[in-house]
Amino acid sequence: MLKLFCPDMYIQSIYFLKPEDLANRGIKGIIVDLDNTLVPWNAEEPDNKLISWFKGFDKRGIKMCIVSNNKKNRVKSFANELSIPFIHKAVKPRKKAFLKGIKLLGTEIFNTAVIGDQILTDILGGNRLGFYTVLVIPMSSKELWWTRLMRKVERVIINMLIKKGLLKKPL
Ligand SMILES: [Mg+2]
Repeated sequence: MLKLFCPDMYIQSIYFLKPEDLANRGIKGIIVDLDNTLVPWNAEEPDNKLISWFKGFDKRGIKMCIVSNNKKNRVKSFANELSIPFIHKAVKPRKKAFLKGIKLLGTEIFNTAVIGDQILTDILGGNRLGFYTVLVIPMSSKELWWTRLMRKVERVIINMLIKKGLLKKPL
């Protein structure tokens, strides 16, 4: 049960993830969260650092799709800027949007990674279906009250995972 909440990889930020890390595992596609994973919660558009991070994966033939619980306008403008597909109002951790994501990517569950900053939506959703899951530390602490509440639950889960030796805090 606890394993459903445990990411396969836990890192400080997306910038600690190199294309080779995933290519070596046979990963061909990434379902990536938007808010507090790719950019801080309130950021309006991708900056140069994000664009060059993204291009590194693109060059290795690893495709990306943004899957976000946020609304259409916000998700669309980011996805368009990076010229990648997106799914908005995804209702993660429900399975539907993840399955739609691999359809858009043209990949399968076994060769797709899920990256996100929330255990209860991104990681739980990805693990339920058997994706390779990557948890990042949220980029900013500015969030909706609901998310802030969920963070408290997540902290308890993270501490339990660490105590059981299933997870290591990122350096
Ligand atoms: Mg997020």
